Amino acid sequence: MFNNLSERLESAFKNIKGEAHISELNIANTVKDIRRALLEADVNYKIAKEFTDKVKERALGEKVINSISPGQLMVKIVQDQLTELMGGTEASFNADGKPAVVLISGLQGSGKTTFSGKLANYLKTKKNKAVLLVADDIYRPAAIDQLKVLGEQVGVEVYSEVENKDAVSIAQNAIAYAKEKGKNVVIIDTAGRLAVDEMMMNEVANIKAAVNPNEILFVVDSMTGQDAVNTAKAFNDRLDFSGVVLTKLDGDTRGGAALTIKYTVQKPIKFVSSGEKMDTLDIFYPDRMAQRILG
Ligand code: GDP
Repeated sequence: MFNNLSERLESAFKNIKGEAHISELNIANTVKDIRRALLEADVNYKIAKEFTDKVKERALGEKVINSISPGQLMVKIVQDQLTELMGGTEASFNADGKPAVVLISGLQGSGKTTFSGKLANYLKTKKNKAVLLVADDIYRPAAIDQLKVLGEQVGVEVYSEVENKDAVSIAQNAIAYAKEKGKNVVIIDTAGRLAVDEMMMNEVANIKAAVNPNEILFVVDSMTGQDAVNTAKAFNDRLDFSGVVLTKLDGDTRGGAALTIKYTVQKPIKFVSSGEKMDTLDIFYPDRMAQRILG
């Protein structure tokens, strides 16, 4: 994960690690290399500049401390800044309600259905919840079948209404059904499109208005870099979602989406998903991710 970014950052620290003293010149050189590494990871220019300006400011401010080496100091500062950029601390996830409703949004192919299965499995096995999955895609019968397969795999019931072409009423009926059956959490997997479009946004916004979800999660493919960030902006403007799910971190992703989504939409990444197995869902910890990036 983020191998290229890790390697580039490591090489950015190479020179300063050999220095006995920190100076304005070696700070400036290191910061320039860090900025280049971020840009190559598909971090937008403005964010990369702001990031490195802060690193520089802190490094200059702390240069009098002699107890740690210049290299250690720079790594520590960058680690702190990366953590802050990705949200600082772990975000909460609210799955309490009678039942709690979690609405899953995102483009087609982003990994919504796979994530829905993983989240159901996580809530069932780790949080002891009785979960209902809802296949609320009225356009693609295959999407309903896909969720049913995943539901069976994780032992969670899947609600669907093949004949019903009203996504809002399916969601409402599913919640009524969940109440009747004593379920604690309802996960609604909605229809996506290949690109942001008005009809899709209206549909998800209408479902949101009708069911008042505890959580609205926006699922995005980390492989799509800056596009992921732009899509997040479009969905957030419309849905005011509560958190982001970053998928496909097992692929050869550059890191830009993970680093900048929080900054751009001011919403936390809550989960990351890396793989198609149902037990590969992870809570997102900004500090651990920063540590991992810096090796
Ligand atoms: P949806 O259209 O948003 O519901 O997306 P799907 O859940 O159907 O996922 C689209 C494709 O990406 C499928 O082939 C999934 O198996 C795959 N996929 C989903 N999540 C991940 C992941 O974290 N890693 C990898 N490698 N593939 C994933």
